Amino acid sequence: MELDKSKILEAGKITSDVRAYARTIVKSGIPLLDISEKIEAKIIELGGKPAFPCNLSINEIAAHYTPSHDDKTLAHGLIKVDFGVHIDGYTADNSFSLDLDNSEENKKLISASEEALSNAIKLIENKFAKGKNVNNKSRPDDSNLKLSEIGSVIQTTIEKSGFSPIINLSGHSMEQYELHAGITIPNIDDKRNIKLSEGLYAIEPFATTGSGKIRDGRSSGIYNLEDTKKPRSPLAREVLEFIEKEYNTLPFCSRWVVKKFGTRALFALSELEANGNLHQFNQLVEVSGNKVSQAEHTILLEKDKVIVTTL
Ligand code: MN
Ligand code: MN
Repeated sequence: MELDKSKILEAGKITSDVRAYARTIVKSGIPLLDISEKIEAKIIELGGKPAFPCNLSINEIAAHYTPSHDDKTLAHGLIKVDFGVHIDGYTADNSFSLDLDNSEENKKLISASEEALSNAIKLIENKFAKGKNVNNKSRPDDSNLKLSEIGSVIQTTIEKSGFSPIINLSGHSMEQYELHAGITIPNIDDKRNIKLSEGLYAIEPFATTGSGKIRDGRSSGIYNLEDTKKPRSPLAREVLEFIEKEYNTLPFCSRWVVKKFGTRALFALSELEANGNLHQFNQLVEVSGNKVSQAEHTILLEKDKVIVTTL
């Protein structure tokens, strides 16, 4: 699919500005609900739209925690701030982790995922564009860099720090209105022989003091549209129409829908899920219950150029 470069770069720029803002408002004791709402409002203020609900996952929850409309949780622990911006479906995805416990171990864990991300990007910068056929015959798949090599540098970096990468979470390719478009960037050397090609990708290493795997946890209240077949109740139909128009196939959350329709929207969401219109994501929890850190950037790979859009 053709990607719109100017929209991709603009989404990246907004993401980067919102990240700087987010770093100033995520503090111990602040309600997660306020943090998410402020981050999402800032995205809109700067001319973008949230590519998905702002995730604020704490400690052993690796991903997919977004506050519900009545969430009372206060920020604490090792918190992953994962949000994204889209412009007409062209996405930027990023995350950073903060230690709100003043814990040495948290800080080391955060450095490990940050360093893994930076080493992965360095590897891509050094090897992707330069691996091209110099006779101007480069094809989209004409790179010498294997996805498993990116996974390998992530794994090695995290293990050197004394932690484990999470093996069943990975980076991903992105297409218009498709946050996870099919190609995965592993966080370990998965030995597969797939090469990196041009396109838009999120790279996102996770480091943990635990065993390095996640399992499904509770329902997250984060959904995406799967099917537009008509549901029975008029309210569910109305909510479905809103979702289609407002979010297309990008993830959204119950909090956003409650804001529009009130708490009766929760019934409609259940109906739409049961009817197969919506898929609801689970929270992702480290299996041994140990802390997880995450770092993420979006990169645009062109024939002869690597651009970190969210830097
Ligand atoms: Mn993300
Ligand atoms: Mn991502």
